[in-house]
Amino acid sequence: MFNSLSDRLTATFKNLRGKGRLSEADVDATIREIRRALLDADVALPVVRAFTGRIRERALSEEVSGALNPGQQVVKIVNDELVGILGGQTRRLNFAKRPPTVIMLAGLQGAGKTTLAGKLAHWLKSEGHRPMLVAADLQRPNAVNQLQIVGERAGAVVYAPEPGNGVGDPIQVATDSIEVAKSKLHDVVIVDTAGRLGIDEELMQQAADIRSAVNPDEVLFVIDAMIGQDAVKTAEAFLAGVDFTGVVLSKLDGDSRGGAALSVAEVTGKPIMFASTGESMKDFEQFHPDRMADRILD
Ligand code: GDP
Repeated sequence: MFNSLSDRLTATFKNLRGKGRLSEADVDATIREIRRALLDADVALPVVRAFTGRIRERALSEEVSGALNPGQQVVKIVNDELVGILGGQTRRLNFAKRPPTVIMLAGLQGAGKTTLAGKLAHWLKSEGHRPMLVAADLQRPNAVNQLQIVGERAGAVVYAPEPGNGVGDPIQVATDSIEVAKSKLHDVVIVDTAGRLGIDEELMQQAADIRSAVNPDEVLFVIDAMIGQDAVKTAEAFLAGVDFTGVVLSKLDGDSRGGAALSVAEVTGKPIMFASTGESMKDFEQFHPDRMADRILD
């Protein structure tokens, strides 16, 4: 995960080690390297520009503090700014004051929503909750089945339309699920929605309608970290079409460049809340911007 970006940045900082003073030329050379490393990692250009601009300004204007030498000071600035790009503080899940808490998932087909639904349920169970999964992806014939398999793996109940009841109305299913959850004392409802391979007006509207119907406490936009530059465009489309409260990066275990996903928080202004790092239910973590920045700059 972000290995090559991490290696590149570490190599850049090596050149600064032991320098007693940093000239403007030193700072500029470092920033050029950082810019190249970020672009090669697929971080979106406007994000790279803003990021390197802030680093340059701070590197040239801030007094070197306390125990740090000038090189370490630059590393600290890069670290601070990286934490900022990744969303700043850890953003935890927002639970409803009166259960059930409703979490809706949105994103393109194949982004990892169904898998994430299972992982979230698995994690919530370990935290003492009683989650229920809701199959509101009625677009693909196999989607309900897939959620049921994931539910079994997570040990979570799945609410789905009865087989044979036609295609079903995902908005109705989602609405009904809230009452079912209340009556069966499930305190968290996770609504899986349909996505297409590309941005699709009709499904976007459906997701927006489900959102209006169930009034979720969280809408998590799931993005495949491996889709490259399309990540930003897709995130913007979902922000405009459905609106979301947080981002989940999936497939962070892939060793692709992944930098586009790092741009999503900065571009949309929404926090990255979880990371999905594999196909097993356990490959899931809360996203901590500071720890991720440390990993990248390690
Ligand atoms: P959905 O269409 O958005 O519901 O996506 P799915 O949950 O069906 O995931 C699509 C594919 O990606 C499946 O084959 C999953 O097993 C796989 N997948 C999901 N999350 C991850 C992940 O974090 N890492 C890896 N390597 N594969 C994942």
